[in-house]
Amino acid sequence: MKASGGEAAGRVTVSCQFCLTLNKVDVDRLSHSPKCGSCGKPILLDRPVRVTDDDFHNVIDGADIPVVVDFYADWCAPCKIMAPVLDDFAHEHIGEVLVAKVDTDRNPRTAQKFGIRGIPTLIVFKLGKESNRRIGAVPREELEKLLVSS
Ligand SMILES: [Zn+2]
Repeated sequence: MKASGGEAAGRVTVSCQFCLTLNKVDVDRLSHSPKCGSCGKPILLDRPVRVTDDDFHNVIDGADIPVVVDFYADWCAPCKIMAPVLDDFAHEHIGEVLVAKVDTDRNPRTAQKFGIRGIPTLIVFKLGKESNRRIGAVPREELEKLLVSS
């Protein structure tokens, strides 16, 4: 592994959104347009990535950078308010923070494991451990605080 410019190389593990193969991605090489090792389609980290019961632990444990997970459901109105905020946030913090989304209806095991009772619930994970949590839709500034105050 070679580090460029002395910065520690960050890594994330995400499933390809097309073929679901797990890929490890160097976040300091995002400008090189990472592609899925299996199907060759681009791995896009400038937007929230979908995470499921099957790959949740790989994604959380495989990230060297903080991960913000949005536990949501399609029928939840506050979640719809939160969605564009998270899209923006992911875009602006590409390479620094991974934004992930868990559909709590389709992934009940993960929702249950983390005791999700209200949605949206945002949980910040750092090096695989929960470091902060917030229930309910939050404005952009609060989202930033959630990351630093943990
Ligand atoms: Zn793929």
